Amino acid sequence: MELDGVGTKTSLLLNKLGIYTVEDLIYYYPKRYDVLKRSNMDYVLDKDKVILDGIVEGQPTIVQLSTKLKKVIFRIVDGRGMYNVVVFNQVYLLKELKYGMNVIIIGKYDKLRNTIVANEVRVGKLPKNPQIEAIYGATDGLNRKMITKFIDTALKSDIQIIDYIPDYIGDRYHFPDKLWSIRQIHHPVNELNYKRAKQRLKYEEFFWYLLRVRYLKYWSMNNCEFSVKKIFDNSKVSEFIKRLGFELTIDQIKTIEEIKRDITSGKQMNRFVQGDVGSGKTIVAFIASYMNFLAGYQSALMVPTEILAVQHYQNALELFEDTGVKVVLLTSSLTKKKKDNVLKQINNGEADFIIGTQSLIQENVSYKNLGLIIADEQHRFGVNQRKLLKEKGSNPDVLSMSATPIPRTYALTIYGDMDISSIKTKPIGRKEVSTFYKKEEDMLEVLKMMKSEIDKGHQVYVIAPAIENEDSEELNNVNKLAEKMECAFGKICKIGCVHGRLDNEEKANIMSDFESGKIKILISTTVIEVGVNVPNASMIVIFQANLFGLSTLHQLRGRVGRGSIQSYCILISKDPCDRLQIMEKTNDGFEISEYDFKNRGEGDLFGVRQSGQAEFKLADLRKDFELLVRVKKDADEFFDNYFTDDKYQEFRYYLEIDKGLN
Ligand code: ADP
Ligand code: MG
Repeated sequence: MELDGVGTKTSLLLNKLGIYTVEDLIYYYPKRYDVLKRSNMDYVLDKDKVILDGIVEGQPTIVQLSTKLKKVIFRIVDGRGMYNVVVFNQVYLLKELKYGMNVIIIGKYDKLRNTIVANEVRVGKLPKNPQIEAIYGATDGLNRKMITKFIDTALKSDIQIIDYIPDYIGDRYHFPDKLWSIRQIHHPVNELNYKRAKQRLKYEEFFWYLLRVRYLKYWSMNNCEFSVKKIFDNSKVSEFIKRLGFELTIDQIKTIEEIKRDITSGKQMNRFVQGDVGSGKTIVAFIASYMNFLAGYQSALMVPTEILAVQHYQNALELFEDTGVKVVLLTSSLTKKKKDNVLKQINNGEADFIIGTQSLIQENVSYKNLGLIIADEQHRFGVNQRKLLKEKGSNPDVLSMSATPIPRTYALTIYGDMDISSIKTKPIGRKEVSTFYKKEEDMLEVLKMMKSEIDKGHQVYVIAPAIENEDSEELNNVNKLAEKMECAFGKICKIGCVHGRLDNEEKANIMSDFESGKIKILISTTVIEVGVNVPNASMIVIFQANLFGLSTLHQLRGRVGRGSIQSYCILISKDPCDRLQIMEKTNDGFEISEYDFKNRGEGDLFGVRQSGQAEFKLADLRKDFELLVRVKKDADEFFDNYFTDDKYQEFRYYLEIDKGLN
């Protein structure tokens, strides 16, 4: 690194902190701040933190407490009195401190012994006015003091930093200069300056991020390598839709039209379909794959769980009967013989529609001509998994689907490089799921409600937070609940249990017995959370509901209300909590996600784009959401109206470099 006083060894240590260049140093913002202000010893209590300065009295001495532990002891005097100072293990102080020297002591006061146990001793005097001090994250061999020194040197060097906010926007908001702002972050003079600086830098972080997303989208639209326009006979698609036995909803039709436009455009599709649980995304995916089939290509549908794969597969077999589409299932639990056969069919092109779990991306799977990939419940997959599947074809169209609703504004900003279709309208005849919170004491009432559903010929899910947990008397697990349910309903109907520890065949058998109605009550962990579709199930009873996150609860509730019968969701918990109240209040996944987003943060919901978040040093997607929305508007305005100006050549240059790194 080109910086005075930084040798190879120090360089390596700085690298550990993610610092490789002088610029990185400048952007290495403080972890927190301390205020350096002399303590008034009249008010200091025992064990309080104190900051003092004074003169060293006499020569410091060292006391060996054990082989590892040493302490340096000395005394200081200030205008008011004398204090003992003890410092553990900082033996170098013995040489550094001299009689009569001015020192600053930061530590804890032991009133009884009139002693300050210091964690920091510095040569010098405290400033007259309180001073704000930046505290940086440090690493072994590189303490805060050294980091502060390097950063200060870097700030004084004449390094060029690029300002990513266009002039006219800076003027609009009266933003301060960038370098000034960075200096304020490292050395805040007062709170007002600090806030102004921070706001400006946050704005810039968002602005540049959003501009990059916009640019990426623009670029991929214009530089798509996919050149084959998929051509097919649309009347066949219409016939297929007519035979479904239900009318598609307006949003389903709209989404299908959008997909059709994409795949016939000659450009690679990158579409994200979000629709609340039960809105009917599967059929949309099937129709997309049918179009792709008619155009002469294979489709692959990747789902996160085996249960879901089997369900989609059976569904597809039925729907594609007599269409000429050969549907196959590929999961890890197939027998070797079956699997080899399926792999062969995928390879020689006999298989048209391949449904499976992560198995689809394994090395030994090679597709003849993969033209469309679909990731159902895509938030369950990492970016890499989708990328691997994509690489199995040559620029296949990509359709991602998710029921984890993402607040609209957020989706538009963060998923800006994908096209988005939203399915909001629910199929006709769907009734809202009625949701009730019940205390554990109300168990009898809950059992009566369950009985009433079973008497009507409907089915019930019972959800437990754990499979088994020996040391917890409190936690309801699958086995315990099974006992209880057996006791209450064993005489009148069949009860089944599924959880992650069963092998796949057992799981599949139980699921199929539930689907066919043989099993009336299914006790399960959250393995059934995503995607499972049994329209005759009209009630879901969730035990210890307070242990689940809001999005999980909403997904679980989505298992019922999938047909035209009135359905119920019972949330059982000792105590009510906010989340349960929200669940009672609304069925709208979008509303729920807005709430979740505001209260919990993006972490859980938005795993996919997490890499993007590391780029925000000062900004926080959740806390600064309003700012994000404003910046999004500004960034779009800039991109649409000013981006191509000569003035912004440099911006374009950096975006181009950035794209390469993506
Ligand atoms: P999700 O969007 O949660 O994946 P599914 O695709 O599993 O939902 O659909 C839920 C249920 O709704 C399925 O039984 C499906 O057959 C049915 N369905 C889908 N679209 C319609 C429609 N337009 N009218 C009636 N039922 C529909
Ligand atoms: Mg689904």
